[in-house]
Amino acid sequence: MFQKVCIIGFGLIGSSVARAIHKADLAKEIVCSDLSQDVCDKVMELGLANYATPNLQEAVTGADLVIMAVPVRQSAAIAASIKDHLAQDAIITDVGSVKESVIEDVSVHLPDHVHFVPAHPIAGTEYSGPEAGFAELFENRWCILTPPPEVDIRAVEKITLMWEAFGARIEIMDAKRHDMVLGMTSHLPHLIAYTIVGTAVDLEDHMQDDVISFSAGGFRDFTRIAASDPVMWRDIFLTNKDSVLELLQRFNEDLTALQRAIRNDDGDFLQQFFAHTRHVRRQIIDRGQANYPRSPIGSKRYTPRSQPRDKKSGSLSE
Ligand code: NAP
Repeated sequence: MFQKVCIIGFGLIGSSVARAIHKADLAKEIVCSDLSQDVCDKVMELGLANYATPNLQEAVTGADLVIMAVPVRQSAAIAASIKDHLAQDAIITDVGSVKESVIEDVSVHLPDHVHFVPAHPIAGTEYSGPEAGFAELFENRWCILTPPPEVDIRAVEKITLMWEAFGARIEIMDAKRHDMVLGMTSHLPHLIAYTIVGTAVDLEDHMQDDVISFSAGGFRDFTRIAASDPVMWRDIFLTNKDSVLELLQRFNEDLTALQRAIRNDDGDFLQQFFAHTRHVRRQIIDRGQANYPRSPIGSKRYTPRSQPRDKKSGSLSE
């Protein structure tokens, strides 16, 4: 499908995309570009790319597909720095969790001769870095594409085929709608998890020990979510500000209603509310969106399909 794929940012998502490309045999060559030399070295050690370099311009030169898999506030600066090095008709895509403002900020830098197809796989874990990725991360998950109306439809089709080859299901959505939907289903829950764990940490010392020692299912689940990457989530809240603030306002109103019901011993209200939310869980299970295919940690190591190449020039061997 592609000659040279350049993945910028080789963390959980970038490295999972690379593994999925290898697994589906979609590219002749994968190039990694990551700010961190340590990450580049690790990518080569894991055999996930043909070569890896922190030099963005060198990495994108000649690529027919460039995938930005960096924290969302980095995308515009990256677009500005690679714009003069992009090949004619190259497809540029991303995996960012926020779309509207990122599309605006990236598009202004991109030349007319490339095609920008923004994407967001609704798949992830609380782990970061190239070792955390796995090829099956996207299987049976949605990938939302938010292509601007003027983009070449053939580029959209190609990105669609790529994600389908990873096992994902595609939904095309307006960027503004995406940010509101994901604000509700992902960003607000993360904010609440960060808050709850922060509140627990603020408890006096002996209580805090007890909170950690006796952490029950509910709190434990929040700590898992609140262990997500701080940089990534800082960027998400700052770039999806309007949607998150609007949803937070609604959330505060609902929380106040529950607070009032508890104070007033209004058991009927509480029971009805909880019965309603239980039904939502049922619907998510029925739609097959409740669990990941397998755990990223302790999972089988990736084994590349291609024969190992010359190690000095960057190999696909482990
Ligand atoms: P990650 O594991 O932290 O990886 C990001 C990588 O990008 C890191 O290696 C980072 O290097 C590198 N990087 C940062 N700025 C860069 C730059 N200017 N140039 C080159 N490399 C740069 O993060 P991730 O979880 O893969 O998330 C990446 C993107 O995917 C984000 O936009 C996020 O919103 C989106 N996403 C994440 C999830 C999820 O659950 N994690 C799900 C869907 C979408 P350093 O570590 O040295 O900074």
